[in-house]
Amino acid sequence: MVENHIAARGIRSALVLDAMQSVPREAFVPDHFRELTYRDAPLPIAEEQTISQPYIVALMTEALMLKGGEKVLEIGTGSGYAAAVLAQIAGEVYSVERIRELANTAAALLSELGYSNVHVQHSDGTRGWEDHAPYEAIVVTAGGPEVPDSLKSQLEIGGRLVIPVGSNRQLQQLVRVTRVSKLDYKSEFIADVRFVPLVGEQGWSASDEA
Ligand code: SAH
Repeated sequence: MVENHIAARGIRSALVLDAMQSVPREAFVPDHFRELTYRDAPLPIAEEQTISQPYIVALMTEALMLKGGEKVLEIGTGSGYAAAVLAQIAGEVYSVERIRELANTAAALLSELGYSNVHVQHSDGTRGWEDHAPYEAIVVTAGGPEVPDSLKSQLEIGGRLVIPVGSNRQLQQLVRVTRVSKLDYKSEFIADVRFVPLVGEQGWSASDEA
C-alpha cells in the first residue's frame, strides 16, 4: 500500500513513508472492514465517523514538516490511526476527540499497541489543548468553516497548522497555516479534500449535524 498509493502519489518524506510502513492499519479498522484495510480509502468506524484514507494521512503528516521529536497536537482522534502515524515521528502527540466512546476506544488501543507517547483527551478540540501549548505542529482531521483562533494561538512561532477549511460541511480545502511571528500567519493551499465536519465552539454547530 505504501509503495503503490503513498509513494506513487508523490509523498517523498522518508520519515513519513517509514511511519506509514510501521503502523498496523488493520488494528484501527473495524473487524467487518478488515479486507478493505489496505485499499487507499477512508472507512467507517463507530459513531458515524471515519478512519482517514492513508494517502491523506501521509499528505497531512508530510505537510506538518516534522523532523522528529516534536510536540504535536491532533484534533479528531477518531480511530487513533493518524495519531499512531504521528507518534512514530513526533516526541509527544496530544490528541483531542469530541466523542467520548471514540476517545476511550482509541486511547485503549494506542496503549495496547505500545504508543505510550500519545495522550488522548475527550473535549472540544476547536479550543485546542491549552495545558501543553505551544505546539510545533497541529493537525485537524475534521473540516471546519474557518481556522479556529485558539489553534492559531497555541502554535509556537514557526509552527505549522494543517487543517481542512470550507464553507461546505463536507468539502474543504486543506491548508497549512504557519505562525511567522507573534501576530503574523501565512496560509498555503495544499489540496481539495473531503472530511467529516469539525463540530464545536469554533467549528460547525452540532444541531445542524449532517
Ligand atoms: N484521525 C482520525 C480521523 C477521524 S475522523 C483517524 O485517523 O481515524 C475525524 C474525527 O474528528 C471524528 O472522530 C470526530 O468525532 C472528530 N471531531 C469532530 N469535531 C471535533 C472537535 N471539535 N474536537 C475533537 N474532535 C472532533
